[in-house]
Amino acid sequence: MADAKAGKDAKAGQGDGKKGPAANEPKAPTGSQLDKMYEYDEGHITQLRQNKPWEKNNKFFNKTKVSALAAMKILKHSLSGVKKGRAGKSGMAVEVMGMLVGKPDGDSIVVSDAYPLPVEGVENFVDTGARAERYMTTLLDSLEKLRKEGYVGWYHSHPFDVETKSNCFMSATDVGTQRDYQNQFPVWVAIVCDPLRSLAKQEPQFGAYRIYPVTYNPPVNQAPDGTNGDKEDLVARWGHAYSRYYQLDLSFYMSSLGNKLLGIMSRNNLWVRVLSSSAILEPEYRERLPERFNKATQKLDSAARAADSGGYGRGWHGGGGGKGGKGKDNVLNQGVLACSELATEQCKGHSSQLCKDILFNALKVAMEKREKGGQKDDGKKP
Ligand SMILES: [Zn+2]
Repeated sequence: MADAKAGKDAKAGQGDGKKGPAANEPKAPTGSQLDKMYEYDEGHITQLRQNKPWEKNNKFFNKTKVSALAAMKILKHSLSGVKKGRAGKSGMAVEVMGMLVGKPDGDSIVVSDAYPLPVEGVENFVDTGARAERYMTTLLDSLEKLRKEGYVGWYHSHPFDVETKSNCFMSATDVGTQRDYQNQFPVWVAIVCDPLRSLAKQEPQFGAYRIYPVTYNPPVNQAPDGTNGDKEDLVARWGHAYSRYYQLDLSFYMSSLGNKLLGIMSRNNLWVRVLSSSAILEPEYRERLPERFNKATQKLDSAARAADSGGYGRGWHGGGGGKGGKGKDNVLNQGVLACSELATEQCKGHSSQLCKDILFNALKVAMEKREKGGQKDDGKKP
């Protein structure tokens, strides 16, 4: 039964991998197929818990399906941490944390809802104090009265500055936290949200992860998403604990009713909001922009200094330079990437503003002129 369900999931989730921007957009449900996500198949879940397929396969759970509601709540909570932190004494965005509610379904972990926890901190210091524990227990008690689903994981935010790479990864502390949970509750996923990149790129930036058992060592130089790279690059993108966890394919879902309602809202109201909003005009984006320009310039400066001092050597010409040469190439690459990302965001933002200006202002003026001209012409005619 589990296999049959897993096969069905694989079919439903085709192309849902977190590969491109479109992959992160909520998928339109096909009839009642996605409404089945809301059903709680007690027999299937009991069988899964008895068979424990995760004990035989280190990467048994390889998909996470997040409801649009849960995704919205996670993103909203993560952004509130940015806003609150920036307004506070330190001026630093704060990390937030919460719990995920859902169920296992074949090789997927379905997240149907998310609940913020009264926990705030900075990376490496997430205060999972007694207050949070009490809150979690009370929350679970109330949840059990209302629904059959239970906790299936936790989420937290990485509100770090927008760089050339996503900040969705697991730090050594995160891996430790996930290990504690996963040992106790095998059906457990960790979702990391990058709120500032979500804002800059205008699409949710989430990563879903699980850890490997301590006895298992993945192939050397393998990244959590299954790609290969140099250790230096892997550490920079995925953190020092990159070999201890793996990434799950993340997709979003919505009920057919929710989809219908969203369609009506989009037709009636939401299109106005979409048309009037612009990432480059968001206060948060504008405030951080000078700092991002500054960082990109610093990277280019240090690459230029290295080039002046002849530091590039063979590495600069791509002739297989030593470690030092590669390190400096990386600095240049990072600088170029940061600049091109900034340029793309600005071009995209300004082009859309220009289009809106033409649509709402220039076109209106042109039409008014034409109308006036038409009236004058009419007057001149005998
Ligand atoms: Zn973290």
